Parts: sequence; structure tokens; C-alpha cells
Amino acid sequence: MDGKEVAEHLYQTIRVEVAELKKEGIVPCLAVVLVGENPASVSYVTAKEKMCEELGMRSIDLRLPASSTTEELLAQIQKFNQDPSVHGILVQLPLPPQVDASRVVNSIDPTKDVDGFLPISAGLLMAGHPSFLPCTPAGIIRLLEYYKIPLEGRHAVVVGRSMTVGKPLALLLLEKNCTVTICHSRTQNLAQLTQQADILVAATGKPYLIRQGMVKEGAVLIDVGVNRIEDLSRPKGFRLVGDAVHEELMDKVSYYTPVPGGVGPMTIAMLMYNTLLSAKKNILDST
Ligand code: NAP
Repeated sequence: MDGKEVAEHLYQTIRVEVAELKKEGIVPCLAVVLVGENPASVSYVTAKEKMCEELGMRSIDLRLPASSTTEELLAQIQKFNQDPSVHGILVQLPLPPQVDASRVVNSIDPTKDVDGFLPISAGLLMAGHPSFLPCTPAGIIRLLEYYKIPLEGRHAVVVGRSMTVGKPLALLLLEKNCTVTICHSRTQNLAQLTQQADILVAATGKPYLIRQGMVKEGAVLIDVGVNRIEDLSRPKGFRLVGDAVHEELMDKVSYYTPVPGGVGPMTIAMLMYNTLLSAKKNILDST
């Protein structure tokens, strides 16, 4: 499954809708807060800002020193909350240890929670009335739909139960009438469960966890993991691998998401989509 292709498909729609909104005097705007200079975070934030620009959206790039305090961050978020020209607010995680990350994230106005990380967004998803869907799980559902992979009645096994990926994805798959099993680090006999999966999602951050014997013939493999493995032959000194050993699985599965180029591009695309939705809602609320 080619995440870049599916993301580009979504971008075509977003570009058209952004142009329409601009005619009404509204430019969808995403405010991105980055604290410190963690190289992975810097590259994620830069990619998000570049994509805003490419789509004709506005981004506000707030870069703060690693020594920032919780109070300083809360004050910045408050400004974005009160600014009607800002439609989405994203705080790049992780935050430095002295910052109370959940206080900061939870201070975002729920109507601007384009990451879908707030407890209220998670609760609405749980209740079956989602507002902003968390970007990675929503992107995975888009990928499955784009490739017309039947979901109803199929057994989805989600390995990983984080609030950002595993849990919300399990709920979305349940909404699509999958039978869902959630596995985690304390699961016993992981292989016995993964072998039953029609749709197997690996979202653990553990490279090489999912191997050939753990996957059913013809299954669909969604590999969410992004793991840096030292590789001095590469210019950056590392390469990215997923949670599954792709070389062992390519001939066994019916579909799989590569790493990189599978789920990652969809995550950014859904963030752009949520920002657009927020800007559109803004129009509806003001009419
Ligand atoms: P996380 O918060 O660290 O959660 C990892 C989950 O995996 C936990 O639920 C953990 O179980 C489970 N786990 C760990 N080791 C396991 C094992 N040996 N067997 C079974 N389960 C195991 O990570 P996350 O934020 O969900 O991210 C997971 C991976 O996805 C990471 O590599 C991350 O970089 C990647 N990611 C990629 C994207 C993208 O756009 N491509 C977006 C988000 C995340 P416990 O709960 O028991 O600890």
C-alpha cells in the first residue's frame, strides 16, 4: 500500500477546498509548537509546515527553547486558542521533562485539537460521535478504504495500545464492524493471536517483532512502527525500519504498508485534512 499515493489523492481534494475557502476570506491555519531541537521532532515539524505551504494553508511556526516552562507554554497555547485565525494547534511531542505535557496538551481548545489527542476527542470517538480523529489511526482507515480492503466481519489484531495509535485504531476498526483483538507487552502467546489476524496492525516501536511465523497467509499487514536502526553506510548513519520483518513477509501477505512510505505520509495528510475541517467548521459557526 503506497501511502504517498493515497496521501496525494487526499491532497488533491484538500487543495480544491482550500482554494474555495480562500474565496470566502478564510485561510486554514495550523499553529505548530516545537520545544527544543530533537532532530526527529524538527524533521516532523518541518514536514508539516512544508505541506501547509504546498496546500496553500498558513502555518505558524513557534519554536521555543528546551528550557521552556509549563507556564510559558500554557500562555502560548492560550494565545492560539483565542486567535480566530488559527484553526488547528499542534504541540510536537515529546516535551522536555520539566514540562507537564498533559497539562499543556489538555489546554488546547477542543475545537482546534486537530491531532485528536485531547480526552474529549477520545471520549467522543469512544461514544461513536467523533470530532477530530487522531491522525495516524484515521490515515490507516483511509489506506484500507482506498485499497478496498473488506473490513466487516474480519478479525483485526492490533498490537499496541497507546492513546495515539493502538486504542483509537481499535475503536475505528470496531466501528467498521471488524472483530478486534488488542495486544500489548503483557500479552501471552502473541504469535497465536497474530496468526489469526485477517488485518494485523503492528504499532509497538519494537523493530523486527512481527516475523513470518506470526502472520497468516494472505493477511493485510499495517506496519505503523518507525524505528531508527544504526546503518553507517547511509548518509545520516541510520535507516528506518518498521515493527515487522518485511523481507520475510512480502510474499506471504496480500497487502502491506512499507516503512517508510506507508502509514507516515497518511498521518501528515490527515493532519492537513483535520485543519481544513476545522476551518470549514469555523465558517459554519459564524453563519
Ligand atoms: P507507545 O506509546 O510506546 O506504545 C507502544 C505499544 O506497544 C504499547 O501499548 C506497548 O505495550 C506495546 N508493546 C511494546 N512492546 C511490545 C511487545 N514486545 N509485544 C507486544 N506489544 C508491545 O508507541 P506509539 O506512540 O503507539 O507508537 C508505536 C510505533 O508507531 C512507534 O514506532 C512510533 O514511532 C510509530 N508511530 C508512527 C506514526 C506514523 O505516522 N508512521 C505515528 C505514530 C507512531 P504496553 O502498553 O503494555 O506497554
